[in-house]
Amino acid sequence: MLNIVLFGPPGAGKGTQSEKLIEKYQLIHLSTGDLLRSEIAQQTELGMKAKLLMDKGELVPDEVVIGMIRSKLDQNKSTNGFIFDGFPRTAAQAEALDKLLSENNTAISCMLALEVDNEELTKRLLLRGKDSGRADDQNEDIIRNRIKEYNNKTAPLKDYYTAQRKFHAINGIGSVEEIFGALCSEIASIHQVI
Ligand code: ADP
Repeated sequence: MLNIVLFGPPGAGKGTQSEKLIEKYQLIHLSTGDLLRSEIAQQTELGMKAKLLMDKGELVPDEVVIGMIRSKLDQNKSTNGFIFDGFPRTAAQAEALDKLLSENNTAISCMLALEVDNEELTKRLLLRGKDSGRADDQNEDIIRNRIKEYNNKTAPLKDYYTAQRKFHAINGIGSVEEIFGALCSEIASIHQVI
């Protein structure tokens, strides 16, 4: 299986690139942000609780997102692989993911990290807020809080995957096609060794 963690701060382009990667490699896209927004749209209890945190730009509790990923892995036992988008976001989530995958006799193949500077990120997110209507993209304070949460809790995962020799950085500035090309060549070089 090809199991990719697509990594990067909010606005790095994970969603856009995931769409292209799942098509090319026939993978299942697991975005915890999308799963949470779908819970909100269905007005479930989980969704209503998550919304309070998401609207402030804070992370939702680990056990909530881990539970969602666990059930998606159980529902998709026979697939070429997964793209994890927006997950894991904390060390506890990364450890839980390794455990869940090993219970299914598989593992993370690589972490591909899209690197984009803070100024460009804020610009992109405010622009996306106008089109997507996402509440957490429309206010600069919420955006800054999301970037802060990322820097405090998520960025350290670079070390977690580096220790497993799975971390690969990609320049996230450029055209969608250029970045997609860079991701695919990285996957091709990793694929030769796994
Ligand atoms: P972005 O990467 O642009 O911030 P996401 O859709 O991935 O967008 O996430 C939106 C919000 O959903 C986050 O700010 C957070 O509140 C919540 N969220 C998504 N994934 C997770 C996760 N793995 N752990 C905790 N909270 C999450």
